[in-house]
Amino acid sequence: MARKKVIVGNWKMNNTIKESLEFINNMKYKMDTNIVDVGICPQYLALSKIKEETKGTNIKIGAQNVHFADNGAYTGEVSTKMLEELELDYCIIGHSERRQYFNETDETVNKKLHKVLQTGMIPIVCVGEVLKEREENIHFEVVEKQVEAAFKDIEILEIQKCIIAYEPVWAIGTGKTATSVQAEEMCKYIREIIANLYSKEVAEKVRIQYGGSVNSGNAKEILNMPNIDGALVGGASLKVEFIEIIKAV
Ligand code: PEP
Repeated sequence: MARKKVIVGNWKMNNTIKESLEFINNMKYKMDTNIVDVGICPQYLALSKIKEETKGTNIKIGAQNVHFADNGAYTGEVSTKMLEELELDYCIIGHSERRQYFNETDETVNKKLHKVLQTGMIPIVCVGEVLKEREENIHFEVVEKQVEAAFKDIEILEIQKCIIAYEPVWAIGTGKTATSVQAEEMCKYIREIIANLYSKEVAEKVRIQYGGSVNSGNAKEILNMPNIDGALVGGASLKVEFIEIIKAV
């Protein structure tokens, strides 16, 4: 069965609640389709209002991060239990900005993944190499290690629910996109890693996105690649341009 493409906008720390609502109000009918899964991950404070605002549409809503504990002395953090109340669809785990600025490690990514899989949310697990690693030609090795660590002790039925986002760090927010060939080559490699860890059949079911400066100009070529099942979009998801990326599918 063909894998349904999935385009998710990661708004990061942008848009107040009011701005988020304005954007969704203007765009929701253009974003509403069932040909492709479309999702938005706004900042935490806007989640419940955006969820309400998109009721009755096919638009999926996700969180950008979560903690691995249910509750406790973790000042400033939010748990899966709290997100579950909002009946969210997605939860991004291990985004490179979390790894870079908030000490997210392969181990915490794995803990978060275990936790999110106990909920109804679909995890979007981010992996990707930094520029130095690509220049040193160790990018395949780096991504393989990240994937293996993220999915440690994850059951065969659980992995099939996950989305993996390949996001080369050097392409995020830099305007530098991986070529469609580079993106396809790594997404194919990730599928092979999943096949080795689980089975070929399972690997064929897992959706793998590309992320890194995807825009209306390059989306079509990237999304046409056989092992790329969608995009995780940062900057361009804050603009009307996001619609063009959805249309590119
Ligand atoms: C991202 O943050 O996941 C991302 C891919 O950002 P951008 O599209 O801005 O590079």
